[in-house]
Amino acid sequence: MTPEHIYRGQCHCGAIALEFVSAREPEHLAVRACQCRFCRAHGARTTADPAGRVTIRIADPGAVIRYRFAEKTADFLVCRVCGVYMAAMLIDGDNAWATLNVNCFENADAFPKNPAPVSYDGEDAAARIARRKTKWTPARLIGAD
Ligand SMILES: [Zn+2]
Repeated sequence: MTPEHIYRGQCHCGAIALEFVSAREPEHLAVRACQCRFCRAHGARTTADPAGRVTIRIADPGAVIRYRFAEKTADFLVCRVCGVYMAAMLIDGDNAWATLNVNCFENADAFPKNPAPVSYDGEDAAARIARRKTKWTPARLIGAD
């Protein structure tokens, strides 16, 4: 059985925390630098493992902003208190998938400093949703409204 790694992260003030479980080492997790204006503005480096799982805990439902833009197919979870961008989440019924900002991980330095730039400009909403269900991490959100 492959040992699992537990990656923990939180926003600066601690209102939002996540626990990401993956069999992959940091160097074997794909780390992406999405070139959309939101991700560039945050300097986000994101990772996901479709074979892993993540739990995102919100200590106070009022502390999370679910920012939506463009096709509005995902919620970008930003802390209302400290402004840290934690994760983007696609929710479909009872299922959810997330991509995680490794900059908020305790061991963020273990991940590539200069991840590969990626652009999804050519996708329509359906392609975007299909990609996220395939590439993002199965997720649970706890403590939100
Ligand atoms: Zn915060």
